[in-house]
Order: sequence, then structure tokens, then C-alpha cells
Amino acid sequence: MDYKKIGLTVGIEIHQELATETKLFCNCPPELNKDGYEFTFSRKLRPAQSELGEIDPAALFEFLKGKTIIYQADHRTSCLVEMDEEPPSPMDKEAVDIALTFSLMTKGAPVDEVQVMRKTVVDGSNTGGFQRTSVVSLGGEIEVGGKTYHLEQVAVEEDAARKISEDGDTITYRLDRLGIPLIEVTTAPEMHTPQEAYDVARRIGSILRATGKVRRGIGTIRQDVNVSIMNGGIIEIKGAQDLGMLKTLVEFEAQRQVTLVEIQGELKTRGVEASDLKPDLVDVSEMFAKTESKILLNALKRGGKVYAVKLKGFNGLTGKELCQNRRLGTEMSDHAKFKGGVRGIFHTDELPGYKITQPEVDKLRKTMGAEAGDAVVIVADDESKCKSALIAVVDRAVQALSGVPAETRSANQDGTTRFTRPRPGAARMYPETDVRPIQISADAIAMTLKDLPDMPEVKLEKTQKKFNLNSKLATQILDSDHYDLFEELVVEEFSPTLIAVTLTEDLTSMRRDGVPVENLNAESIRGTFSLVKLGTTVKETIPDILTYLAKNPSRNPTMAIRDLGLEMMSDEDVKQLVESVVKERESLVKERGMKAMGPLMGVIMGKARGRASPQKVNKLLNASIRAIIE
Ligand SMILES: [Zn+2]
Repeated sequence: MDYKKIGLTVGIEIHQELATETKLFCNCPPELNKDGYEFTFSRKLRPAQSELGEIDPAALFEFLKGKTIIYQADHRTSCLVEMDEEPPSPMDKEAVDIALTFSLMTKGAPVDEVQVMRKTVVDGSNTGGFQRTSVVSLGGEIEVGGKTYHLEQVAVEEDAARKISEDGDTITYRLDRLGIPLIEVTTAPEMHTPQEAYDVARRIGSILRATGKVRRGIGTIRQDVNVSIMNGGIIEIKGAQDLGMLKTLVEFEAQRQVTLVEIQGELKTRGVEASDLKPDLVDVSEMFAKTESKILLNALKRGGKVYAVKLKGFNGLTGKELCQNRRLGTEMSDHAKFKGGVRGIFHTDELPGYKITQPEVDKLRKTMGAEAGDAVVIVADDESKCKSALIAVVDRAVQALSGVPAETRSANQDGTTRFTRPRPGAARMYPETDVRPIQISADAIAMTLKDLPDMPEVKLEKTQKKFNLNSKLATQILDSDHYDLFEELVVEEFSPTLIAVTLTEDLTSMRRDGVPVENLNAESIRGTFSLVKLGTTVKETIPDILTYLAKNPSRNPTMAIRDLGLEMMSDEDVKQLVESVVKERESLVKERGMKAMGPLMGVIMGKARGRASPQKVNKLLNASIRAIIE
């Protein structure tokens, strides 16, 4: 795709969790609770009209109408502040300091006073209905590939609760993540290809890690991406957790928008106008009374209805692929789900299908007065849900006449996105009066500047030199989730290369083989290395032990060695093994003398399967051969 021609423009917001001692507005530890939760409580959100911004607040109300939010919590990772039962404590100064450090590393201009604002959040992920956010600096720049990219601002925010599930009218969140300090870095919309977006996000991520004060691991850094093309609305994509996916995300989104513009052109050619698209909904339940389609039949049995609407001029377009796995019909379905709470829709471009037959489709078209160029959409559910859903479908069809509608979307696993809600207006912020501002003095700036961490390339060079690593390995370990563990283990006299390879390449290849490496904690890796150091096992067995521990998280390294039969052989056993092998091959020894060492070492080490140290075998074998030839 010619990204220049389509006028692709991308801006990124990076959210990185900070490795502080406490959460941003209370003293709870900034950690997720892996052991589940102790209690739940529920809330119903009642957002005030004025807090919802300008665009389509009615839709947001509709979304929240009657929804119950359940929060799962425990006493260790959350307190009354997260529950919104107690006012927040003063803002954590450490978080502000880390943000200030990043700002100065990227040449931003710090504000005089860090003021806490409330940003309305309507999805229930914050118990108070708002997220606290504070701008720390404005502007700034980074260099990537010889080009300068500008930052708009750096802010400190509280992370939201994490969504566990969504089921009909109930959304469940876990409270542990709420209040973990985040740094939010917003770039100017200056990227024009998916590769540039990826490179800039990667660069910002590595500068953040260079502060040495950020949390690592899956979910600790998330990207929101704004994508637009010429003549289209701005699309905000939330929650890309995987940097590797960012490129695909932007590629797919560009493709989706280009196809939407093509559809817009086609609709114009067909002479379709907004006035042609009317929400004239027809109850077609009777027509499907004896259908083979279980989805329709089940809805009817529950007392629901089947409703249909005609989309003039949309034949062939509802089924048109926008990008991989997404059609215009999928977009309409997202809107129907959002506004109507239905599970999905059917459109004539995908029918006959789903056990809906050709004669049924013919009859449907006839009843709806659909001509060859028209499409018909049907939905089966409670009557009121059907109606809201189909009105949303018609609204989305009208939007298709103007190309790319501005909206907020969420990233899917495969790099595609789905509609989540209309884009809220910009005026959603209001001051938080419960928290005092923090001053940033000229002295504080001077002190931070004096002690600024190395930029990533300097740190890379130093790491390479200090540990005698090649550049690839040094880059990998600096980017990895285990850099701290690496530094810790290196102190314990292991070869830095061995540790770096284990913590990066070995773990990566294990992950590729489907090993659940996320189950490995620092303790099991540390324990495995100490057993090697103690001589309980040899370093060659480390990948086997870690694989076993990842698959059996309840076992410890000592148990793993026993379970895998990797305990070292006793000195006596090694001696017997060496002597028996030498005896078996006495003729070879007599024939080749000391030159038999090589082949015999191989045989013995093979039989010992990592349970004997090569040095020890070497010494014993040498003595044993000498005894024969001398
Ligand atoms: Zn707390």
C-alpha cells in the first residue's frame, strides 16, 4: 500500500506502569494479585450528562443503562481509596520524579506545578467514574533513524482496574491494577507508515526502560494509537499490549479505512443518499417460524422476535472485506451489539448460510421490497433489543456515506480492531480538588538533570563492555523483562553470556515451543542457577529444568532435578562408568593410545546424560587410559 498516497497519519500514546513503592494515591503495593480475590462489591454507574463530552453522549448513556459493574478485590492490593470510599492520599512523589526524569531525557519542558485532573471514564474501569491524570511536561522530542519526532506531553496517571469478563449486563473488573502509577507519553501525529509507528513506540519504550524505574512484563506497557487517512475521521485504537503487533494493527487499520473510502465512492456512484436509509423495521418473525436456523428459532422460542431492515444500495457492500476477517457487516454488527445488546446480525451478503435457506432469503427480500442492489439485515432477540440494534445498523450505514467515522476501537489478538464506542469529545477533564498539586522547582530540575540516566544506546554500549556481551545479546537482555535478574545473577559469578542467553534466547525458544514461560518466576530461575553453582547439576541442563518448572509451577528446582533424573552421579558411580567404558573398548585404547580420549569422552558423556561434570570425567578417563598403555 502506498501510505504517502493515502495520507496515513499516526500518533501514539504509550502507557507504561512505573516501578514505584506504592500506588499513586494510596499506600497499597503496585502489584497484581496472582492469588485471585477475597471479596466483591458492585456498583451501577450514573454518569452526569455534563461529563460525557460532545459526541453522541446518548450512545454512552445507552451503553451504561442498567449495567452492573462487579469489582473483585483483596485487602493486600487495594484499600478504601480504590473502592472510592475514602479520599485519595497525596500524589506519590516518586512517580512524578520518574516522569520528570523521562521528560528531561526527551527534552520536554516541565510544568511549574503538577495539578491533578479528573478524566471521565465511562466503562466502569474506575470505581469513581473518572481517572486521575496530571501533566508533568509539555513538548519534547526523540530521534529515530536520524529523524526527529515530537512529543506532545508527558503525564502521570493512575492505571484502571483490569477487565475480567463481560456478560450481558454485567461487567467484572479486578481492582488490584487500579491506582498503579502510569506514565503516559503522547507523540505528535508525525508517523506516516506502520514501520515508523513501530520504531517510534519501540524507541519510547527503550527510553522508558533506561530510566530503570518501570515495571516489566506482559501488560505493563500498552499503546493507544490514533490512525487517520486523508478524508477520514480519526480512529483511536485502545489497548495494544504487544509492540510486535503494532505494525500489523496500523497496516490493517489503514487498509480498513481505505476500503471504507472505496465503499463511500461506490455508494455515491450508486446514487445512495442518507434519505434512502430509513429505519423502517419490519417484524419478520412469522416468516422464520419453521426455520432450520437454531439462532433464529431459539430467539423466537424465548419469546423474542426476528426483525429486518432494508439497506438501499448496499448489496455486495455489507459483505465487502475491509481487512482480514472484518467486513462492513462486522462493523454494523459491532454497533448493533453496542447499542442493542444483541449477539450479532445477519446480512444478505452472507446468506444463504447459517442454516438460513435460499427460499427464506428470497421471501425476505420480497417482503422487504429489496431490489437486486439492496441488502437486508436481520436480527433475532427481544423486540426492544432488535429495534435498537437495527437502528444502530441503519445509523452505521448512513455513516458509510461519509467514509470513515471517528470512533474508539479496541485491538483484537490478530491485529484487527473492533468498534467499542463513539469518540468522546475533548472536554472531559475537570480539576481534582481532593489532591494538592506538586511543585516542580528549578532546583528539582537541576538535580534531575545532573543525575540523568544514560540514553539506551549509551547504556547498551556500557552493558556490552561491562559484561563482555555481543551487541545482539546486550540489546536482548536490556529489552527483556529480566534485566534486573541478569544483573543479580552476574554478581554471583556466572558467565554473563550464559545468563543472558538463558534469560533471552532460551526463554524465547521455549515460548515458541508452547512452554508457558510466564509461569517462571525469578525465584525458580535464581534457584536453578544456584544448583548449577553448587554442582548439583551442570549448566547444560538449565533449559530442561526451566521447561519443567514452567510446566509444573508447583515444583521447585531441587524437585525438578530429581523428577527429571538429572541429579549428578556420585564420584564412585562416575569412576565405575569410566572404567567400564574403557574396559569395553580396550582394543581401541591399545591401538590409539591417548588419542582414544576424544571418542571415549563422547561415549561416557552420552551415557551420563549431563549428570557428570566433563572435567571430572576427563581426569578419570585420562588416568584410566594411562594405566592401560603404560
Ligand atoms: Zn489502596
